[in-house]
Amino acid sequence: MDQTTKKHIDLLHPSVREEVTKIIEECDIALTGRAKVRITQGLRSFQEQEDLYAFGRTKPGKKVTNAKGGQSIHNYGFAVDICLIIDGKTASWDTAKDWDGDQISDWQECVEIFKKYNWNWGGDWKTFKDLPHFDKKGYSDWKVLSKLKRDRKNYVILYK
Ligand SMILES: [Zn+2]
Repeated sequence: MDQTTKKHIDLLHPSVREEVTKIIEECDIALTGRAKVRITQGLRSFQEQEDLYAFGRTKPGKKVTNAKGGQSIHNYGFAVDICLIIDGKTASWDTAKDWDGDQISDWQECVEIFKKYNWNWGGDWKTFKDLPHFDKKGYSDWKVLSKLKRDRKNYVILYK
């Protein structure tokens, strides 16, 4: 697992860090060959979210999100975006390519592993498909998350 991925995992909500570590390790094993998974985005501050929301609205460019600050699961550390790193150097968002030649695209192999651990995939969304995106089932409603209290490190406190 590369440093970028580790860094992002360390900032996710504490309750999912161990699980995401396992998922990424399992993906890398499944892909056997040329591709490895990298987490490109994890926790995102409300301000960073507002800045993204501005694209295609108050800032030039294409719209990249429909979520304002506080409305993305990334804002609570329960979401990750991935890409594949090919041969240790080239980033790829190709969801169809079968780098390891096992008849299942490498991206799809990762999707299956995330789903096995009860993560939603942005590729299953009906309106705004977000193929690199995954978020944890049970924590995928920002309206619920936004009402929770925060701990000293600003992570939402989960009640069981
Ligand atoms: Zn995302």
